[in-house]
Amino acid sequence: MIRIGINGAAGRMGQLLCARVLSSKDLQLAVATDLPQFAGKDIGEMVGLGKNDILLGQPEPGAYTNCDVVVDFSLPEGTKRLLSCLGAQALVVGTTALNEESAKALGQHAQENAVVLAANFSTGVNVLLSLVGQAARLLPDHDIEIVEMHHSRKRDAPSGTALALANAACEARNVDSSETVIYGRVGDVGPRKKGEIGIHALRGGDIAGEHSVTLSGPGERIELGHFATSRAAFAEGALHAARWLNNRPAGLYSMQDVLGLN
Ligand code: NAD
Repeated sequence: MIRIGINGAAGRMGQLLCARVLSSKDLQLAVATDLPQFAGKDIGEMVGLGKNDILLGQPEPGAYTNCDVVVDFSLPEGTKRLLSCLGAQALVVGTTALNEESAKALGQHAQENAVVLAANFSTGVNVLLSLVGQAARLLPDHDIEIVEMHHSRKRDAPSGTALALANAACEARNVDSSETVIYGRVGDVGPRKKGEIGIHALRGGDIAGEHSVTLSGPGERIELGHFATSRAAFAEGALHAARWLNNRPAGLYSMQDVLGLN
């Protein structure tokens, strides 16, 4: 049994992950943590599987000692806090919009432990990343625009996945994303600059996550897209990464590594 810790356990992804681990044959829910206001809640009851006497805790030093792998889907403050509480545990991070300080702390943890960081854990999106890189390389003059849409409660914009898609295109074209990517357009912006990649964030309803990448050229347009119909694909992917990570050498891995797409 792989002993799993989940941080952000009371959230949308956290609850789904807890339910999947509790129903799994090879994973054991060792610890689940979230903000102090959730501490003491019965996790089985919280996820609709009935009381199981596993209680929510909060991230604190030593809290994850009994875990082989910790899975974090919280918020950037939550990931930062978690990193200051971890010992020698492998780590799966799905939280997006990490700041520079957290990214640095994550890199430090990865020097001695195995870590998977991915803006999107679905297999389909990781295949899409490869396809976008290929299309951007094969169509170097086509104009790329990325549109993402998420539920109305999402805090960060654009999505980590939209940024990853833009990076895949920039890497394929060998250009610097900080000089290439623009976020939305408003006012007298003038004609589109050659090579520019536009990202546009839409918000509404309960959409789990939709991304489309359009490559437009003279007289034609290619559209590549991914539409998540639920969060199940993210949860499955994150737990697949947790299984893959267990006993893996220290290092910072991507979901592309996990899926063998590199
Ligand atoms: P959510 O708001 O429903 O859940 C976040 C949870 O984190 C909440 O329960 C909150 O209380 C908890 N939290 C906040 N601060 C914390 C702290 N300091 N310590 C512990 N817990 C803390 O959000 P969600 O929809 O579940 O998404 C969570 C994160 O995962 C977001 O960053 C989202 O963008 C990302 N996400 C990533 C993927 C992926 O595949 N990588 C997929 C979906 C969502």
